[in-house]
Amino acid sequence: MSENIERRRFLKGMGAASLILGPMGCSSVKDDNEDANKPHYVMVFDQNKCVGCGECKEACNVANNLPDGKSKLLMEHQSGGVEGQACPHCGKEACNCERKFVRVSCQQCKNAPCVAVCPTGAAHKDPKTGIVTMDASKCAGCKYCIGACPYNARFINEETDVADNCDFCLNSKLAKGELPACVQQCKYDALIFGDANDPTSYVNKLLAVKDSVRMKPQFGTEPSLRYIPVVKLGV
Ligand code: SF4
Ligand code: SF4
Ligand code: SF4
Repeated sequence: MSENIERRRFLKGMGAASLILGPMGCSSVKDDNEDANKPHYVMVFDQNKCVGCGECKEACNVANNLPDGKSKLLMEHQSGGVEGQACPHCGKEACNCERKFVRVSCQQCKNAPCVAVCPTGAAHKDPKTGIVTMDASKCAGCKYCIGACPYNARFINEETDVADNCDFCLNSKLAKGELPACVQQCKYDALIFGDANDPTSYVNKLLAVKDSVRMKPQFGTEPSLRYIPVVKLGV
């Protein structure tokens, strides 16, 4: 099965409609039981700003030396068209006219099932930042982490034989004091990254005033990737 089809299960599983803002999906800045003295790195994807150019994905592939056909990040086009219903924009059925995109990547769960099931400790949380990452030298290739991830966000990197995930560019960028490659690359300010526990950070202030949602909150994974869904005026 191709990577794209496999990873599309991510969207199918969470349902495109889950990016519609609802009272149950809204998240505050701080998680329950969170130690506010420790950093909590979050990424915010603002669907209102994303134009679907895909430059974030290309930047990620280069920064993380990913082999052809593999990616830590996919951009999915969400269509507003539904079979049997006229599109509110163009009037056609099952059209593809709505320009709405969604980021598909590791959700950086605070309660990460991939870490819990890994028998070797390869999938782990970086003790300093709390970011879910991999110790390539410990990965046995058993794929338990891939099976345990409710977001289908992990994949085997054939170049390294390691089950890979987006780790917010922990080693490739953050270790050098830089922002993640995708965030640096986005010209449209659709990606925002920072420490949500730092009251002076932009991301802290943004999440305090903007409603955001998390994918599949019912799993209790507490993702650190937040989505600001498209807001339709007059709805
Ligand atoms: S670079 Fe920014 S605007 Fe372009 S697809 Fe990525 S998030 Fe969207
Ligand atoms: S999204 Fe999947 S791979 Fe990423 S931290 Fe959560 S369980 Fe692990
Ligand atoms: S944070 Fe880094 S690893 Fe994750 S999608 Fe962005 S560029 Fe790729």
